[in-house]
Amino acid sequence: MNFYIYNTMSRKKEKFIPVHKGKVGIYTCGPTVYNYAHIGNLRTYIFEDLLKKSLEYDSYKVKHVMNVTDVGHLQSDSDTGEDKMQIGAERENKTVWQIAKFYEDAFFEDCNKLNIKRPNVICKATDHIQDMINLIKTLEEKGYTYIANGNVYYSIDKFKNYNKLAHLSMEELEAGSRVEVDENKKNPLDFVLWFTNSKFKNQIMQWDSPWGRGFPGWHIECSAMSLKYLGDTIDIHCGGVDHIPVHHTNEIAQSEAAVGHTCVNYWMHGEFLVINGGKMSKSSGGFLTLSKIQEQGFSPLDYRYFCLQSRYRKQLIFSYSALKQAQSSYNKLKDKIASIVSSVKENERKDEELINKYKSKFKEQIGDDLNIPNAFTVLFQVIKSDELTNREKEILIESFDTVFSLDLLKADNNKLDNIDENLVDKLIAEREEARNNKDWVKADEIRDKLKDMGIDILDSKNGTTWKTRK
Ligand code: AMP
Ligand code: ZN
Repeated sequence: MNFYIYNTMSRKKEKFIPVHKGKVGIYTCGPTVYNYAHIGNLRTYIFEDLLKKSLEYDSYKVKHVMNVTDVGHLQSDSDTGEDKMQIGAERENKTVWQIAKFYEDAFFEDCNKLNIKRPNVICKATDHIQDMINLIKTLEEKGYTYIANGNVYYSIDKFKNYNKLAHLSMEELEAGSRVEVDENKKNPLDFVLWFTNSKFKNQIMQWDSPWGRGFPGWHIECSAMSLKYLGDTIDIHCGGVDHIPVHHTNEIAQSEAAVGHTCVNYWMHGEFLVINGGKMSKSSGGFLTLSKIQEQGFSPLDYRYFCLQSRYRKQLIFSYSALKQAQSSYNKLKDKIASIVSSVKENERKDEELINKYKSKFKEQIGDDLNIPNAFTVLFQVIKSDELTNREKEILIESFDTVFSLDLLKADNNKLDNIDENLVDKLIAEREEARNNKDWVKADEIRDKLKDMGIDILDSKNGTTWKTRK
């Protein structure tokens, strides 16, 4: 089936053609680990998770690489302001290394709660300093750099079409990046590849380099690590829209100058979550985390459901009342699904052709540049359908949920406490006996009873096994 992606580079929806048939390489810009991720950041990671799972649904084998920024990111994306890691360390009276470890763990815990699948490769900037140095050396050899006041700068005037991703004039780019005047820069949009002359007196993260002891600029890490793990032609590169005019623009300048050709085939960018008309930002301090919304009585999956109701390229306005509405719709949906599942009969029809018809409808929507709201419409068609048996509905819901990841078939957790395993085994044995006696009514009754207890059973040649829906 065709998969369509809106490519920021062309500003068009394009048919996705992978570099290698059946495989997709995706690079997503990861967190800067100096604070908790806010729910805006998490919206972007949910979008990227949906992308990956939608491609997997379409039978692609996905290799997903994500960086963790634990060095080099200054407050402004364009080399100005304080060092973000140092800010975190000073705020909490810890070392930058402790801060990085703590917030990296916290980030993956949030992802886990949101059913965001772990990337295949997670690469930390501080583990790839040599790769960055090598790349800067290549850029230097090719004449794209200059040294001023001890720092190595990238000269954007040497790179043709520097503004091709942002579709902005150089003047607009300059105005947008609010750059502090840096006397060392030949062009205000030039950026630092390697700092040796750090303005931060107590900079702890430092490494030896051909240009002196120092640390890398922020943008070079994503070029170095994407080239290392995904090669010099990457299928898809993602991030939030804020990355278009600076970070990804600079990444293109670095990677393409180094290898001499286009390195990314499709650029995808998630729009912002906004609150009270403004963007949510980590550095402003007034941001909402997943734990904060949990304290207000919302589950992480309520938030995931909330995000799934709008398309990734549209801004999403956050409010607690909108989240409350999402929570209530999500609960209603789960109730409807629970009643379908509890009505599945033992020997109900399972028509593959019919099942595939709905799977194709679903695929068409997710393959339309991730039209998740329309994919939900297909889910509701399945739920309401007169032509599908409950068994077929259950199979389809389970299948769609590999993308939604909303635990649609899981029973409420409180039903799963204190499971009496002996009782489960006894019921399964009784059901086995009923099946041997072709007493389908009794076998169905027992299966329903187990379902009510939050237990799924699986019949195979080797007998019956069970698992909780937790
Ligand atoms: P950071 O940890 O600040 O580097 O950001 C991590 C990711 O979140 C990046 O892809 C950003 O583009 C994205 N992001 C930042 N703010 C928001 C927001 N308010 N809504 C959605 N995504 C955001
Ligand atoms: Zn990046």
